[in-house]
Amino acid sequence: MGTKYDYRNCQSLFGYAEKVHRRCAWKCQLCGCGGEPVSFDLWRQLTVEHLIGESQGGYVKELRSAVANRFNLLAPQEREQIVLAIDAMNTVTACSFCNSTTSRDRHDKSIGELLAVEGTPEHVLTQIRATLAQVFEIKRAKVLWKLASVREEFERQIAASKS
Ligand SMILES: [Zn+2]
Repeated sequence: MGTKYDYRNCQSLFGYAEKVHRRCAWKCQLCGCGGEPVSFDLWRQLTVEHLIGESQGGYVKELRSAVANRFNLLAPQEREQIVLAIDAMNTVTACSFCNSTTSRDRHDKSIGELLAVEGTPEHVLTQIRATLAQVFEIKRAKVLWKLASVREEFERQIAASKS
């Protein structure tokens, strides 16, 4: 134990995740726990929740190729802006409890299908934003429903019988 732990093994807490958590002010967007000032014990349990997940092309790498397909006439920088805009809409901070609650949810459309609508990039982004807002609300409702039951049992079994 003499040497320091290599924090870079906790990559999921830095870099890409840090950007998402800063945007969300260190607060789980699904249950509302956390917030500023950021506490170490909560921060280390924060995760990046992808509203449209990896299996549906919601991660940046797949997003990039889907955007390249859909907007093949745009310049690479313009396409990258679209990728970054969608990625920002598609990611929120979630605590590990909420992330695991929603991890099996699948939206009925992939990012590729959402990109397939007609129109300008602005129009497509507006449509995707609206869909992602719906996905977010569904996930949030599920978390709140689960939390209500779990809290009830917490009150009954855990808090009431503190030793
Ligand atoms: Zn949460």
